[in-house]
Amino acid sequence: MDYYHESIILGAGISGLTCGLYLQQRLHDFLILEKEGRTGGRILSTREQDLLLENGPNAVLIKQRSYVLKEVIAKLAISERLVYPFDDARGRFVCKRDNLIKLGPAIFFSDLLDWSARAKMLLGGLSKSSLEEKETVYDFFSRKFSSKMADNLVTPLVSGIYAGDPKSLLVRTAFPLLHRADKRCPSLLLGMLKEKSALKKSDTGNDYRVKNGICTFIGGIRDLTLALSEKLAGHLRLHAAAVKLRSIIKDKGFCRYPDARWMVHTADGDNYFCKNLIVTLPAEELSELIFNSFAGDGVGDRQFSDEFVDEYATSDSQKLFLKLFRRLQALHYPWLGVIHLVYAKKDISSRVRGFGFLNVHEQKDRAALGVLFPTYMFPGRCRGPEELFTAFVGGELYPEIASSSPEKIIMNVHQELATVLKINVARPEKVFFFSWPKSIPQFDKYHYAFKDWCVDHDSQLRNLNWNWCANYWGGVSISDCMENAKRVAMEILAS
Ligand SMILES: Cc1cc2nc3c(=O)[nH]c(=O)nc-3n(C[C@H](O)[C@H](O)[C@H](O)COP(=O)(O)OP(=O)(O)OC[C@H]3O[C@@H](n4cnc5c(N)ncnc54)[C@H](O)[C@@H]3O)c2cc1C
Repeated sequence: MDYYHESIILGAGISGLTCGLYLQQRLHDFLILEKEGRTGGRILSTREQDLLLENGPNAVLIKQRSYVLKEVIAKLAISERLVYPFDDARGRFVCKRDNLIKLGPAIFFSDLLDWSARAKMLLGGLSKSSLEEKETVYDFFSRKFSSKMADNLVTPLVSGIYAGDPKSLLVRTAFPLLHRADKRCPSLLLGMLKEKSALKKSDTGNDYRVKNGICTFIGGIRDLTLALSEKLAGHLRLHAAAVKLRSIIKDKGFCRYPDARWMVHTADGDNYFCKNLIVTLPAEELSELIFNSFAGDGVGDRQFSDEFVDEYATSDSQKLFLKLFRRLQALHYPWLGVIHLVYAKKDISSRVRGFGFLNVHEQKDRAALGVLFPTYMFPGRCRGPEELFTAFVGGELYPEIASSSPEKIIMNVHQELATVLKINVARPEKVFFFSWPKSIPQFDKYHYAFKDWCVDHDSQLRNLNWNWCANYWGGVSISDCMENAKRVAMEILAS
Protein backbone atom coordinates (compact mmCIF):
# COMPACT_ATOMS: atom_id res chain seq x y z
CA MET A 1 0.00 0.00 0.00
CA ASP A 2 1.07 3.60 -0.56
CA TYR A 3 0.58 6.33 2.08
CA TYR A 4 1.43 10.01 2.33
CA HIS A 5 2.29 12.03 5.45
CA GLU A 6 3.83 15.45 5.61
CA SER A 7 6.63 14.09 7.83
CA ILE A 8 7.95 10.62 8.52
CA ILE A 9 10.07 9.96 11.61
CA LEU A 10 12.34 6.94 11.39
CA GLY A 11 12.71 5.34 14.83
CA ALA A 12 10.61 5.48 18.03
CA GLY A 13 13.34 5.98 20.64
CA ILE A 14 13.23 9.03 22.90
CA SER A 15 14.35 11.29 20.00
CA GLY A 16 11.63 10.17 17.58
CA LEU A 17 8.88 10.16 20.21
CA THR A 18 9.77 13.62 21.53
CA CYS A 19 9.89 15.05 18.04
CA GLY A 20 6.49 13.44 17.39
CA LEU A 21 4.99 14.98 20.53
CA TYR A 22 5.87 18.50 19.41
CA LEU A 23 4.58 17.88 15.88
CA GLN A 24 1.35 16.47 17.30
CA GLN A 25 0.77 19.54 19.48
CA ARG A 26 0.45 21.62 16.34
CA LEU A 27 -1.70 19.04 14.51
CA HIS A 28 1.05 18.33 11.99
CA ASP A 29 0.50 15.27 9.79
CA PHE A 30 3.25 12.75 10.63
CA LEU A 31 3.94 9.07 11.21
CA ILE A 32 6.68 7.30 13.20
CA LEU A 33 8.03 4.08 11.71
CA GLU A 34 9.66 1.73 14.21
CA LYS A 35 11.47 -1.50 13.38
CA GLU A 36 10.81 -3.26 16.69
CA GLY A 37 7.53 -4.32 18.29
CA ARG A 38 8.14 -1.82 21.11
CA THR A 39 9.08 1.82 21.44
CA GLY A 40 11.91 3.29 23.52
CA GLY A 41 15.02 2.13 21.61
CA ARG A 42 17.95 2.31 24.07
CA ILE A 43 15.53 2.90 26.93
CA LEU A 44 14.83 -0.61 28.11
CA SER A 45 13.42 -1.08 31.61
CA THR A 46 12.21 -4.63 32.26
CA ARG A 47 10.53 -6.45 35.13
CA GLU A 48 12.07 -9.75 36.18
CA GLN A 49 10.28 -11.45 39.06
CA ASP A 50 10.21 -8.76 41.78
CA LEU A 51 13.00 -6.66 40.25
CA LEU A 52 12.95 -3.57 38.09
CA LEU A 53 15.97 -3.71 35.78
CA GLU A 54 17.39 -0.98 33.58
CA ASN A 55 19.30 -2.43 30.64
CA GLY A 56 19.85 0.98 29.08
CA PRO A 57 19.81 4.33 30.90
CA ASN A 58 19.32 4.11 34.67
CA ALA A 59 18.55 7.72 35.40
CA VAL A 60 17.92 11.12 33.86
CA LEU A 61 19.57 14.29 35.02
CA ILE A 62 17.11 17.17 35.24
CA LYS A 63 19.08 20.40 35.21
CA GLN A 64 17.92 23.97 35.45
CA ARG A 65 18.13 24.17 31.66
CA SER A 66 16.53 20.79 30.85
CA TYR A 67 13.57 22.69 29.47
CA VAL A 68 12.27 20.08 27.08
CA LEU A 69 12.52 17.21 29.55
CA LYS A 70 10.62 19.28 32.11
CA GLU A 71 8.09 20.44 29.53
CA VAL A 72 7.46 16.90 28.29
CA ILE A 73 7.05 15.55 31.83
CA ALA A 74 4.48 18.31 32.44
CA LYS A 75 2.69 17.77 29.12
CA LEU A 76 2.40 14.05 29.84
CA ALA A 77 1.34 14.72 33.46
CA ILE A 78 3.80 12.17 34.81
CA SER A 79 5.61 14.33 37.36
CA GLU A 80 4.02 12.36 40.19
CA ARG A 81 5.75 9.27 38.81
CA LEU A 82 9.22 10.82 39.24
CA VAL A 83 11.41 9.29 41.93
CA TYR A 84 14.52 10.92 43.40
CA PRO A 85 17.39 9.22 45.27
CA PHE A 86 17.14 8.33 48.95
CA ASP A 87 18.78 10.93 51.23
CA ASP A 88 21.63 8.57 52.17
CA ALA A 89 22.29 7.66 48.52
CA ARG A 90 24.00 10.82 47.37
CA GLY A 91 27.53 9.49 47.68
CA ARG A 92 29.45 8.46 44.58
CA PHE A 93 32.68 6.52 44.80
CA VAL A 94 35.83 5.84 42.90
CA CYS A 95 37.27 2.39 43.45
CA LYS A 96 41.05 2.03 43.44
CA ARG A 97 42.54 -1.39 44.14
CA ASP A 98 39.25 -2.56 45.71
CA ASN A 99 39.05 0.47 48.04
CA LEU A 100 36.14 2.88 47.75
CA ILE A 101 36.97 6.59 47.96
CA LYS A 102 34.02 8.94 48.26
CA LEU A 103 33.97 11.78 45.73
CA GLY A 104 34.04 15.08 47.61
CA PRO A 105 36.52 17.24 49.52
CA ALA A 106 38.40 14.15 50.80
CA ILE A 107 39.57 13.49 47.24
CA PHE A 108 41.89 16.49 47.51
CA PHE A 109 44.27 14.72 49.90
CA SER A 110 43.76 11.22 48.53
CA ASP A 111 46.32 9.45 46.38
CA LEU A 112 44.02 9.94 43.38
CA LEU A 113 45.75 13.29 42.93
CA ASP A 114 49.37 14.39 42.87
CA TRP A 115 50.79 17.74 44.01
CA SER A 116 50.66 19.15 40.51
CA ALA A 117 46.90 18.50 40.28
CA ARG A 118 46.34 19.88 43.80
CA ALA A 119 48.30 23.06 43.08
CA LYS A 120 46.48 23.59 39.78
CA MET A 121 43.14 22.96 41.47
CA LEU A 122 43.93 25.70 43.98
CA LEU A 123 44.67 27.96 41.01
CA GLY A 124 41.30 27.03 39.45
CA GLY A 125 42.78 24.93 36.64
CA LEU A 126 45.02 27.72 35.37
CA SER A 127 46.95 27.00 32.16
CA LYS A 128 47.27 28.47 28.69
CA SER A 129 44.17 27.83 26.58
CA SER A 130 44.72 25.27 23.86
CA LEU A 131 44.50 26.11 20.18
CA GLU A 132 44.15 22.43 19.36
CA GLU A 133 40.60 21.85 18.10
CA LYS A 134 40.96 18.09 18.35
CA GLU A 135 42.36 17.93 21.87
CA THR A 136 41.30 14.74 23.64
CA VAL A 137 39.55 14.75 27.01
CA TYR A 138 42.62 13.05 28.51
CA ASP A 139 45.03 15.68 27.16
CA PHE A 140 42.73 18.46 28.29
CA PHE A 141 42.71 17.32 31.93
CA SER A 142 46.42 16.49 31.85
CA ARG A 143 47.11 20.03 30.65
CA LYS A 144 44.74 21.68 33.11
CA PHE A 145 45.64 19.51 36.13
CA SER A 146 47.84 16.42 35.73
CA SER A 147 47.96 13.08 33.97
CA LYS A 148 47.51 11.37 37.35
CA MET A 149 44.21 13.12 37.78
CA ALA A 150 43.24 12.22 34.20
CA ASP A 151 44.04 8.56 34.97
CA ASN A 152 42.39 8.36 38.37
CA LEU A 153 39.31 10.53 37.99
CA VAL A 154 38.62 11.34 34.36
CA THR A 155 39.18 7.87 32.88
CA PRO A 156 36.78 6.20 35.37
CA LEU A 157 34.17 8.88 34.71
CA VAL A 158 34.39 8.72 30.93
CA SER A 159 34.59 4.93 30.75
CA GLY A 160 31.83 4.45 33.31
CA ILE A 161 29.39 6.99 31.91
CA TYR A 162 30.10 7.04 28.16
CA ALA A 163 31.66 3.58 27.81
CA GLY A 164 34.44 5.67 26.26
CA ASP A 165 38.18 6.21 26.35
CA PRO A 166 39.22 9.79 27.25
CA LYS A 167 42.31 9.30 25.08
CA SER A 168 40.08 9.23 22.00
CA LEU A 169 37.05 11.36 22.93
CA LEU A 170 37.42 15.01 21.97
CA VAL A 171 36.77 17.59 24.66
CA ARG A 172 35.22 19.95 22.12
CA THR A 173 32.35 17.61 21.27
CA ALA A 174 32.13 15.35 24.34
CA PHE A 175 32.30 18.19 26.91
CA PRO A 176 31.46 21.38 24.99
CA LEU A 177 30.98 23.45 28.16
CA LEU A 178 34.55 22.73 29.32
CA HIS A 179 35.87 23.48 25.86
CA ARG A 180 34.09 26.83 25.74
CA ALA A 181 35.23 27.68 29.29
CA ASP A 182 38.84 26.97 28.30
CA LYS A 183 38.51 29.18 25.23
CA ARG A 184 37.05 31.98 27.36
CA CYS A 185 39.71 32.11 30.05
CA PRO A 186 43.06 30.47 31.04
CA SER A 187 41.52 29.65 34.45
CA LEU A 188 39.05 26.79 34.00
CA LEU A 189 37.17 27.80 37.13
CA LEU A 190 36.75 31.38 35.95
CA GLY A 191 35.85 30.22 32.44
CA MET A 192 33.17 27.91 33.85
CA LEU A 193 31.76 30.68 36.02
CA LYS A 194 31.62 33.00 33.00
CA GLU A 195 29.99 30.31 30.85
CA LYS A 196 27.43 29.56 33.55
CA SER A 197 26.60 33.23 34.02
CA ALA A 198 26.23 33.67 30.21
CA LEU A 199 23.88 30.68 30.19
CA LYS A 200 21.94 32.14 33.10
CA LYS A 201 21.49 35.42 31.25
CA SER A 202 20.10 33.59 28.22
CA ASP A 203 17.89 31.48 30.50
CA THR A 204 14.33 31.83 29.33
CA GLY A 205 13.12 29.86 32.35
CA ASN A 206 9.94 27.85 32.44
CA ASP A 207 7.11 27.38 34.83
CA TYR A 208 7.19 23.62 35.00
CA ARG A 209 7.54 22.74 38.64
CA VAL A 210 9.74 19.71 38.17
CA LYS A 211 12.50 19.31 40.74
CA ASN A 212 16.06 19.33 39.39
CA GLY A 213 18.42 16.44 40.05
CA ILE A 214 19.12 12.86 39.09
CA CYS A 215 15.92 10.87 38.98
CA THR A 216 13.92 8.13 37.37
CA PHE A 217 10.27 7.07 37.35
CA ILE A 218 8.29 4.59 39.44
CA GLY A 219 8.31 2.07 36.59
CA GLY A 220 11.81 2.99 35.39
CA ILE A 221 12.82 5.31 32.54
CA ARG A 222 10.44 3.41 30.31
CA ASP A 223 7.52 5.23 32.01
CA LEU A 224 8.59 8.23 29.94
CA THR A 225 8.59 6.46 26.58
CA LEU A 226 5.41 4.53 27.42
CA ALA A 227 3.57 7.75 28.24
CA LEU A 228 4.85 9.29 24.99
CA SER A 229 3.81 6.22 22.99
CA GLU A 230 0.31 6.28 24.48
CA LYS A 231 -0.07 9.91 23.57
CA LEU A 232 1.18 9.27 20.03
CA ALA A 233 -0.67 5.98 19.49
CA GLY A 234 -2.38 7.07 16.28
CA HIS A 235 0.96 8.21 14.80
CA LEU A 236 2.97 5.07 15.45
CA ARG A 237 3.64 2.02 13.33
CA LEU A 238 5.55 -0.78 15.05
CA HIS A 239 7.22 -3.69 13.22
CA ALA A 240 7.77 -1.27 10.35
CA ALA A 241 11.48 -1.36 9.53
CA ALA A 242 12.54 1.11 6.86
CA VAL A 243 14.52 -0.93 4.35
CA LYS A 244 14.85 1.47 1.43
CA LEU A 245 14.69 5.19 0.84
CA ARG A 246 14.13 7.07 -2.39
CA SER A 247 14.75 10.74 -2.78
CA ILE A 248 12.13 12.27 -5.07
CA ILE A 249 13.45 15.18 -7.06
CA LYS A 250 10.76 17.79 -7.56
CA ASP A 251 9.52 18.17 -11.14
CA LYS A 252 11.55 15.17 -12.29
CA GLY A 253 9.22 12.34 -13.25
CA PHE A 254 5.71 11.66 -11.99
CA CYS A 255 4.78 11.18 -8.33
CA ARG A 256 1.14 10.93 -7.30
CA TYR A 257 1.91 13.04 -4.20
CA PRO A 258 3.08 16.43 -5.49
CA ASP A 259 4.76 17.51 -2.23
CA ALA A 260 6.62 14.23 -1.70
CA ARG A 261 10.40 14.50 -1.41
CA TRP A 262 11.01 11.03 0.03
CA MET A 263 9.65 7.55 -0.24
CA VAL A 264 10.33 5.08 2.59
CA HIS A 265 9.83 1.44 1.74
CA THR A 266 9.22 -0.83 4.76
CA ALA A 267 10.02 -4.50 5.24
CA ASP A 268 6.34 -5.42 5.03
CA GLY A 269 6.10 -3.98 1.52
CA ASP A 270 4.42 -0.61 2.18
CA ASN A 271 5.57 2.70 0.71
CA TYR A 272 5.40 5.88 2.80
CA PHE A 273 5.74 9.12 0.88
CA CYS A 274 6.56 12.30 2.78
CA LYS A 275 7.82 15.84 2.44
CA ASN A 276 10.12 15.81 5.48
CA LEU A 277 12.26 12.90 6.58
CA ILE A 278 13.33 12.93 10.25
CA VAL A 279 16.13 10.50 10.97
CA THR A 280 16.77 9.18 14.48
CA LEU A 281 18.37 5.84 13.56
CA PRO A 282 21.69 4.73 15.07
CA ALA A 283 24.57 5.15 12.61
CA GLU A 284 24.87 1.47 11.69
CA GLU A 285 21.18 1.03 10.88
CA LEU A 286 21.13 4.29 8.96
CA SER A 287 24.25 3.50 6.94
CA GLU A 288 22.79 0.10 6.03
CA LEU A 289 19.56 1.77 4.94
CA ILE A 290 21.49 4.27 2.82
CA PHE A 291 23.63 1.54 1.26
CA ASN A 292 20.57 -0.52 0.34
CA SER A 293 18.90 2.57 -1.08
CA PHE A 294 21.66 4.28 -3.01
CA ALA A 295 24.47 1.84 -3.78
CA GLY A 296 22.90 0.00 -6.70
CA ASP A 297 24.33 -3.16 -8.25
CA GLY A 298 27.62 -1.54 -9.30
CA VAL A 299 28.92 -1.20 -5.71
CA GLY A 300 30.09 -4.62 -4.56
CA ASP A 301 31.44 -4.19 -1.08
CA ARG A 302 31.14 -1.41 1.46
CA GLN A 303 34.74 -0.22 1.24
CA PHE A 304 34.96 2.51 -1.38
CA SER A 305 36.47 5.96 -1.64
CA ASP A 306 34.98 9.38 -2.37
CA GLU A 307 36.85 9.27 -5.72
CA PHE A 308 35.03 6.06 -6.63
CA VAL A 309 31.72 7.73 -5.73
CA ASP A 310 32.54 10.77 -7.88
CA GLU A 311 33.13 8.51 -10.87
CA TYR A 312 30.38 6.03 -10.22
CA ALA A 313 27.39 8.10 -9.03
CA THR A 314 24.84 9.04 -11.67
CA SER A 315 22.92 11.63 -9.64
CA ASP A 316 23.72 14.30 -7.06
CA SER A 317 21.66 12.56 -4.38
CA GLN A 318 23.43 9.24 -5.00
CA LYS A 319 26.78 11.01 -4.69
CA LEU A 320 25.73 12.81 -1.51
CA PHE A 321 24.34 9.76 0.25
CA LEU A 322 27.12 7.35 -0.68
CA LYS A 323 29.58 9.84 0.80
CA LEU A 324 27.40 10.20 3.86
CA PHE A 325 27.33 6.39 4.13
CA ARG A 326 31.13 6.35 4.37
CA ARG A 327 31.15 8.92 7.20
CA LEU A 328 28.40 7.14 9.11
CA GLN A 329 30.30 3.88 8.88
CA ALA A 330 33.25 5.49 10.64
CA LEU A 331 31.15 6.36 13.72
CA HIS A 332 32.12 4.06 16.52
CA TYR A 333 29.87 2.49 19.16
CA PRO A 334 31.66 0.11 21.59
CA TRP A 335 30.19 -3.13 22.82
CA LEU A 336 28.77 -2.81 26.33
CA GLY A 337 27.57 -5.53 28.67
CA VAL A 338 25.06 -4.80 31.44
CA ILE A 339 25.00 -7.29 34.31
CA HIS A 340 22.44 -7.25 37.09
CA LEU A 341 23.56 -9.15 40.20
CA VAL A 342 21.22 -9.84 43.10
CA TYR A 343 22.35 -10.78 46.64
CA ALA A 344 20.49 -11.44 49.86
CA LYS A 345 20.85 -8.42 52.18
CA LYS A 346 22.21 -10.65 54.94
CA ASP A 347 25.20 -11.66 52.79
CA ILE A 348 26.47 -8.10 52.30
CA SER A 349 28.74 -6.88 55.10
CA SER A 350 29.63 -3.46 53.69
CA ARG A 351 27.62 -0.51 55.06
CA VAL A 352 28.43 1.67 52.06
CA ARG A 353 25.41 3.48 50.58
CA GLY A 354 25.29 5.65 47.49
CA PHE A 355 24.93 5.76 43.71
CA GLY A 356 27.68 3.33 42.94
CA PHE A 357 31.34 3.35 42.01
CA LEU A 358 33.58 3.87 39.01
CA ASN A 359 36.74 1.82 38.74
CA VAL A 360 40.26 3.22 38.41
CA HIS A 361 41.93 1.15 35.68
CA GLU A 362 45.57 1.15 36.76
CA GLN A 363 46.56 -2.07 35.02
CA LYS A 364 43.43 -2.25 32.90
CA ASP A 365 42.57 -5.35 34.87
CA ARG A 366 39.23 -4.42 36.44
CA ALA A 367 36.22 -6.59 35.65
CA ALA A 368 33.69 -3.74 35.51
CA LEU A 369 33.83 -0.18 34.25
CA GLY A 370 31.53 0.82 37.06
CA VAL A 371 28.76 -0.54 39.26
CA LEU A 372 25.46 1.16 40.16
CA PHE A 373 23.54 0.44 43.38
CA PRO A 374 19.90 0.70 42.16
CA THR A 375 18.32 -0.52 45.40
CA TYR A 376 20.36 1.92 47.49
CA MET A 377 19.45 4.74 45.09
CA PHE A 378 15.76 4.55 44.29
CA PRO A 379 12.66 3.00 45.85
CA GLY A 380 10.81 0.16 44.13
CA ARG A 381 13.76 -1.46 42.32
CA CYS A 382 13.48 -4.70 44.29
CA ARG A 383 10.62 -5.94 46.47
CA GLY A 384 12.31 -8.82 48.31
CA PRO A 385 14.98 -8.91 51.06
CA GLU A 386 17.66 -8.51 48.39
CA GLU A 387 19.96 -5.87 46.93
CA LEU A 388 20.46 -5.25 43.24
CA PHE A 389 23.75 -4.14 41.65
CA THR A 390 24.13 -3.20 37.99
CA ALA A 391 27.61 -3.48 36.49
CA PHE A 392 28.80 -2.22 33.10
CA VAL A 393 31.54 -4.14 31.30
CA GLY A 394 33.46 -3.76 28.04
CA GLY A 395 33.25 -0.31 26.46
CA GLU A 396 36.23 1.30 24.74
CA LEU A 397 38.67 0.28 27.48
CA TYR A 398 37.96 -3.47 27.39
CA PRO A 399 36.65 -4.32 23.90
CA GLU A 400 38.08 -7.86 24.14
CA ILE A 401 35.58 -8.78 26.87
CA ALA A 402 32.87 -8.96 24.21
CA SER A 403 34.25 -12.32 23.09
CA SER A 404 34.37 -13.89 26.60
CA SER A 405 31.59 -16.19 27.75
CA PRO A 406 28.82 -14.51 29.77
CA GLU A 407 29.49 -16.98 32.62
CA LYS A 408 33.14 -15.90 32.84
CA ILE A 409 32.26 -12.20 32.69
CA ILE A 410 29.63 -12.64 35.40
CA MET A 411 31.99 -14.51 37.73
CA ASN A 412 34.73 -11.89 37.28
CA VAL A 413 32.30 -9.10 38.11
CA HIS A 414 30.92 -11.07 41.05
CA GLN A 415 34.41 -11.60 42.50
CA GLU A 416 35.28 -7.93 42.14
CA LEU A 417 32.02 -6.82 43.73
CA ALA A 418 32.31 -9.41 46.51
CA THR A 419 35.73 -8.03 47.44
CA VAL A 420 34.73 -4.37 47.29
CA LEU A 421 31.41 -4.72 49.15
CA LYS A 422 32.41 -7.68 51.34
CA ILE A 423 29.80 -10.05 50.04
CA ASN A 424 30.17 -13.48 51.57
CA VAL A 425 28.74 -15.89 48.99
CA ALA A 426 30.25 -17.88 46.13
CA ARG A 427 27.87 -16.48 43.53
CA PRO A 428 24.92 -14.09 43.25
CA GLU A 429 21.41 -15.37 43.97
CA LYS A 430 20.18 -14.15 40.58
CA VAL A 431 21.96 -12.77 37.55
CA PHE A 432 20.67 -11.11 34.38
CA PHE A 433 22.95 -10.32 31.46
CA PHE A 434 22.20 -7.92 28.64
CA SER A 435 24.53 -6.95 25.84
CA TRP A 436 24.54 -3.91 23.55
CA PRO A 437 26.64 -4.79 20.48
CA LYS A 438 26.67 -1.05 19.66
CA SER A 439 26.02 1.00 22.77
CA ILE A 440 26.85 4.71 22.76
CA PRO A 441 28.31 6.76 19.88
CA GLN A 442 31.81 8.00 20.65
CA PHE A 443 32.52 11.68 20.07
CA ASP A 444 36.02 11.06 18.76
CA LYS A 445 37.94 12.33 15.72
CA TYR A 446 35.80 10.24 13.33
CA HIS A 447 32.65 11.74 14.78
CA TYR A 448 34.28 15.16 14.42
CA ALA A 449 34.99 14.45 10.74
CA PHE A 450 31.41 13.24 10.25
CA LYS A 451 29.94 16.41 11.80
CA ASP A 452 32.33 18.57 9.82
CA TRP A 453 31.28 16.91 6.58
CA CYS A 454 27.59 17.26 7.45
CA VAL A 455 28.02 20.95 8.24
CA ASP A 456 29.74 21.42 4.86
CA HIS A 457 26.86 19.64 3.13
CA ASP A 458 24.13 21.10 5.31
CA SER A 459 22.42 23.09 2.58
CA GLN A 460 22.31 20.07 0.24
CA LEU A 461 20.79 17.91 2.96
CA ARG A 462 18.32 20.60 3.97
CA ASN A 463 17.26 21.11 0.35
CA LEU A 464 16.30 17.45 0.37
CA ASN A 465 14.25 17.98 3.58
CA TRP A 466 16.57 15.64 5.49
CA ASN A 467 16.45 16.29 9.27
CA TRP A 468 18.92 14.86 11.80
CA CYS A 469 17.47 13.93 15.16
CA ALA A 470 19.90 11.27 16.36
CA ASN A 471 21.99 11.07 19.54
CA TYR A 472 25.25 11.40 17.57
CA TRP A 473 23.93 14.76 16.35
CA GLY A 474 22.92 16.78 19.38
CA GLY A 475 24.28 14.83 22.38
CA VAL A 476 23.74 11.38 23.86
CA SER A 477 21.99 12.10 27.15
CA ILE A 478 18.23 11.67 27.20
CA SER A 479 17.85 15.34 27.96
CA ASP A 480 20.06 16.35 25.01
CA CYS A 481 18.17 13.99 22.66
CA MET A 482 14.92 15.66 23.72
CA GLU A 483 16.25 19.22 23.28
CA ASN A 484 17.45 18.31 19.80
CA ALA A 485 14.13 16.62 18.95
CA LYS A 486 12.11 19.69 19.90
CA ARG A 487 14.42 21.92 17.84
CA VAL A 488 13.88 19.70 14.77
CA ALA A 489 10.10 19.69 15.27
CA MET A 490 10.04 23.48 15.58
CA GLU A 491 12.14 23.91 12.43
CA ILE A 492 9.75 21.69 10.49
CA LEU A 493 6.68 23.48 11.84
CA ALA A 494 8.23 26.81 10.89
CA SER A 495 9.13 25.73 7.35
C1 LIG B 1 23.66 1.11 28.24
C2 LIG B 1 23.30 2.55 28.06
C3 LIG B 1 23.20 3.35 29.20
C4 LIG B 1 22.83 4.70 29.07
N1 LIG B 1 22.68 5.45 30.20
C5 LIG B 1 22.18 6.71 30.12
C6 LIG B 1 21.80 7.42 31.29
O1 LIG B 1 21.90 6.91 32.40
N2 LIG B 1 21.27 8.68 31.14
C7 LIG B 1 21.10 9.26 29.92
O2 LIG B 1 20.63 10.41 29.84
N3 LIG B 1 21.43 8.58 28.77
C8 LIG B 1 21.95 7.33 28.84
N4 LIG B 1 22.24 6.61 27.69
C9 LIG B 1 22.08 7.28 26.37
C10 LIG B 1 20.61 7.33 25.91
O3 LIG B 1 19.91 6.22 26.40
C11 LIG B 1 20.54 7.31 24.38
O4 LIG B 1 21.43 8.27 23.81
C12 LIG B 1 19.13 7.65 23.90
O5 LIG B 1 18.18 6.82 24.54
C13 LIG B 1 19.07 7.49 22.38
O6 LIG B 1 17.75 7.69 21.94
P1 LIG B 1 17.43 7.82 20.38
O7 LIG B 1 15.95 7.90 20.25
O8 LIG B 1 18.23 8.93 19.79
O9 LIG B 1 18.00 6.48 19.72
P2 LIG B 1 17.53 4.99 19.96
O10 LIG B 1 17.06 4.81 21.34
O11 LIG B 1 18.66 4.14 19.49
O12 LIG B 1 16.27 4.83 18.99
C14 LIG B 1 16.39 4.56 17.61
C15 LIG B 1 15.17 3.73 17.21
O13 LIG B 1 15.26 3.45 15.81
C16 LIG B 1 14.77 2.14 15.59
N5 LIG B 1 15.25 1.66 14.28
C17 LIG B 1 16.49 1.20 13.95
N6 LIG B 1 16.55 0.87 12.66
C18 LIG B 1 15.33 1.14 12.14
C19 LIG B 1 14.76 1.02 10.83
N7 LIG B 1 15.48 0.57 9.80
N8 LIG B 1 13.47 1.40 10.65
C20 LIG B 1 12.72 1.88 11.69
N9 LIG B 1 13.21 1.98 12.94
C21 LIG B 1 14.50 1.64 13.17
C22 LIG B 1 15.33 1.37 16.77
O14 LIG B 1 14.64 0.15 16.96
C23 LIG B 1 15.11 2.36 17.91
O15 LIG B 1 13.84 2.20 18.52
C24 LIG B 1 22.60 5.26 27.78
C25 LIG B 1 22.71 4.45 26.64
C26 LIG B 1 23.04 3.11 26.77
C27 LIG B 1 23.12 2.24 25.55
